[in-house]
Amino acid sequence: MSKIGSETNPLRVAIVGAGPAGFYTAERLLKEKNVHTTVDMYDRLPTPFGLVRNGVAPDHQKIKSVTKVFDRLAQKPQFRFFGNVELGTDITVEDLRNHYHQIVYTVGAQTDRNLDIPGIDLKNSHPATEFVAWYNGHPDFRDYEFDLSQERVAVIGIGNVAVDVARILCRTREELMETDIADYALEQLCNSNVKEVIMLGRRGPAQAAFTPTEAKELGEMVGADAYVLPEEAALDPLSEASLADADRATTRNVEIIQELSARGLTGKPKSLTIRFLVSPTELIGNEAGEVTAMRMVKNELYQTDNGTMRPRETEQFEEVPIGLVFRSIGYRGVPISGIPFHERWGVILNEKGRVLDSESKEPVLGEYTAGWIKRGPSGVIGTNKPDAVETAECMLADLAEGKTLSPAHPDLEAAANLVQSRKPTYFSYDDWLKLDELELAAGENAGRPRVKFTKVDEMLKALGKI
Ligand code: NAP
Repeated sequence: MSKIGSETNPLRVAIVGAGPAGFYTAERLLKEKNVHTTVDMYDRLPTPFGLVRNGVAPDHQKIKSVTKVFDRLAQKPQFRFFGNVELGTDITVEDLRNHYHQIVYTVGAQTDRNLDIPGIDLKNSHPATEFVAWYNGHPDFRDYEFDLSQERVAVIGIGNVAVDVARILCRTREELMETDIADYALEQLCNSNVKEVIMLGRRGPAQAAFTPTEAKELGEMVGADAYVLPEEAALDPLSEASLADADRATTRNVEIIQELSARGLTGKPKSLTIRFLVSPTELIGNEAGEVTAMRMVKNELYQTDNGTMRPRETEQFEEVPIGLVFRSIGYRGVPISGIPFHERWGVILNEKGRVLDSESKEPVLGEYTAGWIKRGPSGVIGTNKPDAVETAECMLADLAEGKTLSPAHPDLEAAANLVQSRKPTYFSYDDWLKLDELELAAGENAGRPRVKFTKVDEMLKALGKI
């Protein structure tokens, strides 16, 4: 048999998860001139693109145009997509080890970080990640219910996901019509009673996790005023001093927050108040078990030995009436059965993308990871590119040293036959492109960029697979 990576014996790679990290890993591998590689990308959904389709806010269409790059890559003959195939259900890690020289897990962070306060499990208190997946039409979340008859909503956290959630709650019908938001979500949001959204930051304006472009956008909503209390827009002495060597994003955030505060409320129908230096301590419920109020504590900041500003509770409490709560304090990775996992960090145990054995901490032969399940849920879509390149370069270096799996069935047909036998209703990339056309055409009819399919059965029916 010729060398692995030659024309007659290509390097066979399985990538599990068709989000940006998966595509960027494939891109780097297929770019390598002296190594012949064929990539099979798996996803449990029929549709590719992970969070670009199911996480990026529907009113951020420009960000979603990154899929054009992925489309181009998918046209390469060395690339195949097997959608609607779930690892652990339709195929196993053992199957992959029998068919590929290298396996890359790029499954993202599929759940949320938990906020441990009394009352957090009351009705009408939800992880923001579920709401995001719901309004984006993720098939697993389309039937979730959110009580949008409530007037006051709290969003806990002030990262970009919290900003997305707050903004979507505040958008007008006209604004939402310009998006590819799921049609049921469009209807429910247009008929919602929400009048007031409160976002809660546990630290101050100089430590806000959102980015300036997203903060500025809050001040430009057609039907909602974004507002900051003057006493909370003002910086405490420690933060003021820290601005001297702060990065541009931090100083810009502070400027924007102070501008919003100075502008005040201008009489738009809805309001979004961004609060600083407050932490929720309890959700209070009624007899029906629904949240009715939130108790919060005022924080002050202190500086740790490494210079980080941390929040510390004071003895000043307040209680605000609230009917709906979204916790947006970060995503969290979910373990894959049989793959070493770092529980505390919520990531696959790895070094530079090489999966490490839990006991020996030595690399596991032929197994790799990239994206949020490798480094945790941080950064924008583009951050996944260097992250994936790092992983792909470790894969190529290991190949050069002969460190790959020795699968019994490395040929292209064997993997295709495996998928066909386990999941005859799998989606190829061509299938996805046909579905894409149908969604775009439905969008054109409705005067919107796209109307998504949100049920797997309907996707399969549309392509005549069932
Ligand atoms: P994030 O940026 O890590 O923000 C998490 C927020 O939760 C922070 O405000 C954090 O405050 C707060 N938090 C954490 N623990 C808390 C607690 N116990 N009590 C109260 N607040 C708490 O996470 P994310 O918003 O989920 O976003 C994930 C990544 O996706 C980020 O890198 C984000 O920039 C990116 N993203 C980008 C876009 C975009 O580019 N438009 C859109 C969405 C998401 P502290 O700072 O005090 O910890």
